Amino acid sequence: MAKFCKNCGAELNENQKVCLKCGAMVDDEVKPAEVDSGSVGWGFLGFFIPIVGIILYFVWKSSKPRSAKQAGRGALVSICISIFSSILYAILTATVLVGSAGGF
Ligand SMILES: [Zn+2]
Repeated sequence: MAKFCKNCGAELNENQKVCLKCGAMVDDEVKPAEVDSGSVGWGFLGFFIPIVGIILYFVWKSSKPRSAKQAGRGALVSICISIFSSILYAILTATVLVGSAGGF
């Protein structure tokens, strides 16, 4: 299987690392890259199970940046919503307590 320089199109030997014609670095064989779909599904997973989303984010950060970003974002949104709702709940509870205490 012949390889060709991506820069100038010159034919290259199998083990050649640098193009002799233009000096460009020759890419190694295209590895069957891990699927980094960046699927929204990872966002949903991170949203419903934030701890998994965070773990996936750190595990995939370098190998699958797009999927990692989705999972991390889902987890982040989920955490923000739970913090927000607990603050809201605390405010409502406090308001009710203060209201009932003041009312009687
Ligand atoms: Zn070349």
